[in-house]
Amino acid sequence: MHFKIHRGTQEIGGSCVEIWTESTRIVLDIGMPLVEKDGTEFDFNKYKNNTVGELIRKEILPNIKGFYSNTNKLIDGVLISHPHIDHYGFSSYLHPEMKYYLGEAAHKIIELTSIFTPQQNNIKNATYFEKSKPFNIGDITVTPFWMDHSAFDALINDNYFSRSTTIKIPDSI
Ligand SMILES: [Zn+2]
Repeated sequence: MHFKIHRGTQEIGGSCVEIWTESTRIVLDIGMPLVEKDGTEFDFNKYKNNTVGELIRKEILPNIKGFYSNTNKLIDGVLISHPHIDHYGFSSYLHPEMKYYLGEAAHKIIELTSIFTPQQNNIKNATYFEKSKPFNIGDITVTPFWMDHSAFDALINDNYFSRSTTIKIPDSI
């Protein structure tokens, strides 16, 4: 199993981790950054008129093949760990047929939040997971654990994925 942490190791927010085997490719979180590279507050309004390609070139969107609306879908699913915008805020750029995996309450919170914030979400094709109940995406087994965090229904903030081995991803808030 392979991991690539696209964002979230040196900063809080904007979390995005790509995980793949020979036959399955998934992404954990597609968060909006909280800060710019220079440490100033991230302002989505500066980028809202940019295309997906432009956002990838500017390194605002992680460069993940087959993930976004401008390409053929190559990603088997995206997990949303919890309903904070720095973990799902760029979902509106994903491929329209993307499969989402998240908690049911988390999905409801995201839907409600979209009414009051300028960011739209694209979480339509959702499968709900539950705490401590493993599920599979292709040959990757994911076991959600309830996390002590400021977002209700935070289930995979500290993650375990298994195939032949169990790997713990470092915390991101
Ligand atoms: Zn959070």
